[in-house]
Amino acid sequence: MTAETSPSLPVGERSENGEGALVLFSGGQDSTTCLMWALARYPRVETVGFSYGQRHAVELACRERIRTRLAAWPGWGERLGPDHLLDLGALFAAGVPTSLTADLPFTQPAGGLPSTFVPGRNLLFFMGAAIIAFRRGLRRLVGGMCETDFSGYPDCRDDTLKALQVALNLGMERRFMIETPLMWRDKADTFALADELGGEAGLALILEETHTCYLGERGMRHPWGYGCGACPACSLRARGFALWEARRGGAGGAPTA
Ligand code: ZN
Repeated sequence: MTAETSPSLPVGERSENGEGALVLFSGGQDSTTCLMWALARYPRVETVGFSYGQRHAVELACRERIRTRLAAWPGWGERLGPDHLLDLGALFAAGVPTSLTADLPFTQPAGGLPSTFVPGRNLLFFMGAAIIAFRRGLRRLVGGMCETDFSGYPDCRDDTLKALQVALNLGMERRFMIETPLMWRDKADTFALADELGGEAGLALILEETHTCYLGERGMRHPWGYGCGACPACSLRARGFALWEARRGGAGGAPTA
């Protein structure tokens, strides 16, 4: 069975080979780093974003600015293909309210799921991505999920995504590869990867344009970027940046205050 091409789509609308990638791209630090990672590897890279009833649309606005900057990036710009946006709002409206989709406080019960957990979110994201990748003839599905700074999301686990890859390939008769370059990196390593991939300009892109804050706050610029500075996502990013700076200084780089 050869199933690496998409017979339902005119040839001109497909990637020329099966090694194109579709990046789950939210406009946050992790998915932007994954997009840079994919652009450094694959000849054709497309992006997909999801609207799922999130409390703020700041990330979605950041996506466009980031894509515009990457489209002008030497060596990467010509690899960056179209963006796709899937509206999953009606589907997630059927689920429980969470701190990401409703004005609820951030809580992390001992041994339980955090209040930011949106049930089924990453599973549906990859299913949506696979539907687009099937049509576009793209083989690799790239996501910024991570177990290292584990937020307690069971759909970020490596085992979950490996099982999902098997299910998608069986159910769609394809050989998709789910790739998660950040799975075993902590936040400091993710800053290091952006530096490795894009140098100072790559870091500037992360710090100036990506958005992480759960509250959608972009009024205050911290050393690690924009955000409220207090929500769990900002705290993780701030700690990661401080640790990366310490490691960089310790490794012989420019020490920072
Ligand atoms: Zn925040």
